[in-house]
Amino acid sequence: IVKLNNVSKSFGSLHVLQGVSFDVAAGSVVAIIGRSGSGKSTALRCINGLEKINSGEITVCNHHLHHDVTRAQLRALHLDVGIVFQSYNLFPHLTVGQNIMLAPRWVRKQSKSEAHEHAAEVLRKVGLAEKFDAYPEQLSGGQQQRVAIARSLAMEPKLMLFDEVTSALDPELTGEVLKVMESLARDGMTMVLVTHEMAFAKGVADKIVFMHQGRVWEEGGGEMLSAPQTPELRQFVGNGL
Ligand code: ATP
Ligand code: MG
Repeated sequence: IVKLNNVSKSFGSLHVLQGVSFDVAAGSVVAIIGRSGSGKSTALRCINGLEKINSGEITVCNHHLHHDVTRAQLRALHLDVGIVFQSYNLFPHLTVGQNIMLAPRWVRKQSKSEAHEHAAEVLRKVGLAEKFDAYPEQLSGGQQQRVAIARSLAMEPKLMLFDEVTSALDPELTGEVLKVMESLARDGMTMVLVTHEMAFAKGVADKIVFMHQGRVWEEGGGEMLSAPQTPELRQFVGNGL
């Protein structure tokens, strides 16, 4: 469902991605790990077309992204791909339900009742059915992040991207967000996630991609964390981060 083929991306003279290739099978979970600055977020942003690539190709849900992708192509892509970041960016003046209904109403042109029903359903999925009429500030960080995930789900994406969605959370709130992601994975959602949660990557991901200096340095199943093939991954796993 996702294929990166020899993708390169530079910011000025900084070569952030240098020939990155990997793919993501439909219904699978791929975790991208690596130290700070290795290009993980950039790779994710390229998959979502938020960054234009300099060379190579990316195919995402049958959309083909080259260096000259058009706005219309991006709009079509964004109907199929949801992305959730570390900062959840909910609208503070709207209730949880209104936050979730916004895009389905205006982008998917759903009727109010349709969007309402749907919002209630995705909120149930993230375990927050009772928070429909709450305002974001009345929720914990973990709950807000689950709402952000629900908001993305409401658009019925074929693929979900997560960039360190638990990094800003206190440890006791991290678990509830990971649990939601785990249940999405069980339901068959295709997901690519950047994470520092090694236990989660090992337990939930079908494939782990270790990035180092803008390259895919190692790729494999959960076992690769216990038996690293390169000194770089060995050191990364050893340090925890
Ligand atoms: P972290 O774990 O800290 O989030 P990362 O692996 O996600 O790191 P990226 O955010 O992909 O790393 O950044 C890779 C490199 O690209 C870094 O050196 C960063 O400073 C640089 N970079 C990222 N975005 C931009 C940008 N918009 N303009 C210039 N440089 C950028
Ligand atoms: Mg990052």
